[in-house]
Amino acid sequence: MALLQAESVSKRYQMGETTVNALTDVAMTVDSGEFVAVMGPSGSGKSTLLHVLGGIDKPSSGEVVLAGQRLSTLSDKQLTLTRRRQVGFIFQTFNLLPTLSAEENITLPLSIDGRSPKKYQANVDYLLEMVRLEDRRHHKPDQLSGGEQQRVAIARALVTEPAIVLADEATGNLDSQAGEEVMHILRHACQERGQTIVMVTHDARASSHADRIVFLKDGRIAGETSLKSGGSAGTIMQRLEELEI
Ligand code: ADP
Ligand code: MG
Repeated sequence: MALLQAESVSKRYQMGETTVNALTDVAMTVDSGEFVAVMGPSGSGKSTLLHVLGGIDKPSSGEVVLAGQRLSTLSDKQLTLTRRRQVGFIFQTFNLLPTLSAEENITLPLSIDGRSPKKYQANVDYLLEMVRLEDRRHHKPDQLSGGEQQRVAIARALVTEPAIVLADEATGNLDSQAGEEVMHILRHACQERGQTIVMVTHDARASSHADRIVFLKDGRIAGETSLKSGGSAGTIMQRLEELEI
């Protein structure tokens, strides 16, 4: 079942005299429970696509349908609620609040949504265990490694049980071992919890953990490849070369 659909999505930025075509005619479908990687070089429109898919940015034309809702038909208030409840974001730079503990960062989306974190303690404990930070729950972000901070951010993205998790270069600031750990946790969330994930990256090793890769080039879809029957960073690099990405 299609959980997320982009229908002929374009995004233009007007910069004085020049128009930047960040996305042109992008069509993609993500099924419920699928883990999709979007690969493309710097400037190919990956972040723009993620922002449009998650309702942070509005497309210049085209439509995004998320969990049965056409985003363009929603009021600002409805859009805010949809973002809050249906979408979990993971950023390259973690974006944790420095004054809050790991656990408080994880429960923040619940508080923002007016829910009592206490009621969700069992789920929070489960998530802390899943990201292997049970013994770090009272640590502040500056007392955690980059990999640990990103694992806090993953738990924060999952705490509201969103329909979809959108990750922007989630491993981009991490060394390869910490990056692999993050990918294993995302894979686990997909496999064990049926979590739908879209992750943008320019890293073939990271994208090799996805079910499918969509390739983006100059703001357009350049092709895609299924990894259901297995895929390695090597074969992905080869595909990137074929597509001249
Ligand atoms: P990526 O994440 O793949 O590196 P982006 O989505 O950030 O690419 O950017 C795609 C293109 O759109 C780039 O050429 C970038 O300069 C341009 N762009 C992104 N955001 C803006 C903005 N707010 N205003 C103007 N141009 C932008
Ligand atoms: Mg980007």
